[in-house]
Order: sequence, then C-alpha cells, then structure tokens
Amino acid sequence: MADDPRRNLEEIRFFRDLGFREIYLAGAAPAARPAAAPAPAARPVPARPPAGAPSGSDAVPTDPARRPVVPAGFPSLADLAEFAAGCPRCKLSSKRTHLVFGQGNPRASLMFVGEAPGAEEDAQGLAFVGRAGQLLTKIIEAIGLTRDDVFIANVLKCRPPENRNPEPDEVAACLPYLREQIRLIAPRIIVTLGTFATQAILESELSIGRLRGRFHALGPVRVMPTYHPAFLLRSPERKKDVWEDMKKVREALRE
Ligand code: URA
Repeated sequence: MADDPRRNLEEIRFFRDLGFREIYLAGAAPAARPAAAPAPAARPVPARPPAGAPSGSDAVPTDPARRPVVPAGFPSLADLAEFAAGCPRCKLSSKRTHLVFGQGNPRASLMFVGEAPGAEEDAQGLAFVGRAGQLLTKIIEAIGLTRDDVFIANVLKCRPPENRNPEPDEVAACLPYLREQIRLIAPRIIVTLGTFATQAILESELSIGRLRGRFHALGPVRVMPTYHPAFLLRSPERKKDVWEDMKKVREALRE
C-alpha cells in the first residue's frame, strides 16, 4: 500500500466494495472521498457519414456471406445505435432478445469494453447489468467515477448461446460497430475486460495475463487490459491486480 493515507483509504474502500471483509493495515487516517472526475473535455464534432450510407432500416437480413456493410462516419452514437438495432450480420442475431449496444456518457474519457452480453444483458438490452456488471460498477466507483461518467460496451452486441465464447466470425462481424463507437466517443482510455476484448482490440494473441497491467497504444487511445469481472467472481484473489491496473487508469485520467 502507498504511504499516502488518503490513497490507503481509497484502497481499503476498493477491497471492501469488492467483498473483502478483513483488511489489516496500520496507520491509515480517514480522508475525504476522491474528488469527482472533471467533466470530459469537448470533442470535435465527428464527420457526417459517407454519402449513400444506408440507414438502419435499409439493412435487410440476407445471406450471411453478403453481410450488409457497417459504414464508417456516423454522425452520432444514436445514429450508429439505430443502424445496429436491426443487425443481421452474424448467426447470433436471430437468437437475441435485444441487441446490447452499450450505454453511458457518449463523450466519456474512459470506456470499458467487455466480451458479450449474458442472459441478463440480453433480457434488458443493457451491458453489464448482471453479477459481473455489479462488480464492474464497484470497480468504476473505486476510482471515483460512476457508470454515467464512462461508456460501457462489448465486443459482441448479441448474446452467444449458453454464454459460450465468441467465435471468430462473430467477432469479425461485430467489430466494425465497436470501432465506430470508439471513433465517435473518442475516449482517452479504454479498459478492456478479459481475454476476448483485449485480443480483439489490440489484435493480439497474447494472454490477458501477459497483456494486463500496462498501457498499449490504439492510435491516440491508451488501452489498459485487465481481468474480466466474471473472472474475478471465480478468482477473487486477482482483484488486487485489477486494483493495481485501475490505479494506473486513475492516474492517467488525472494527467
Ligand atoms: N460480460 C460481458 O462481457 N459483458 C456483459 O455485458 C456482461 C457480462
């Protein structure tokens, strides 16, 4: 733990929020909660979509081999979400209850990217609202932010059956949406949660264990891979690693 008592208290709160019941620490003085993050800076207005880009209702399901293209250059996240809503680009589309586009601050400095919706997310149409999502909320709050400050999305927008791993063709079909989300939100930092999100975004085959804990460049965006909250539910001893990663994110946001 750091020598700074305020930092120590933040750390204790983090572990408490993550479910640790006993923490042994000498000499940590009480301190105020960390100040809320400054309002995100204004971003340049994104370019308009290319002339002739189809609107959402034009994207009619046909042969998967002739997937409708996801054009780049949407003017807003709302336009992209409307386009995505009827997406037929992979085999998961016919099984979904809701497409889970992601939610949060459309101009967030910090974005979280997970793997794919689970049952709860599919039912509600919202990302990270199940047990893993509750833990993600605590992780976000541990660095002094709320879910409304950040944007939360997944690599896949539709739930894989039985929560199986995403398949390569599904990732390939869905990635254009995530790339366009990143372009429109223009976050300073992306935290990738777990192997799939990390490998998809960084185009790497290295394990999350090798990639986590340090920033990687995605153009101008800094990417911090860390463990997925669902993994933390099974392996709570790794929560301390996530705390180390999130402290780096908090520092970088203050720069
Ligand atoms: N796991 C994910 O990766 N994403 C969700 O939205 C929920 C659980």
